[in-house]
Amino acid sequence: MPRYDFRCRSCGATFELRRTMAQANDPAVCPQGHPDTVKLLSTVAVTGAASGSAAPQPPSGGGGGCCGGGCCG
Ligand SMILES: [Zn+2]
Repeated sequence: MPRYDFRCRSCGATFELRRTMAQANDPAVCPQGHPDTVKLLSTVAVTGAASGSAAPQPPSGGGGGCCGGGCCG
């Protein structure tokens, strides 16, 4: 079960809760009983190929006379 970090905006305490992902966005209550808490973004190492590389198109050269007539194959 993943762990989520929360921070209380009333007393500034940080605490963590274990809850299912379905409950990740549910409001959490501070251990001191304050309902005004925010969920902290946990440090998740996300690695991925995010940069899309557009390969340059090769210039279309002028057709020669060789392969046009079937002499090469
Ligand atoms: Zn609190």
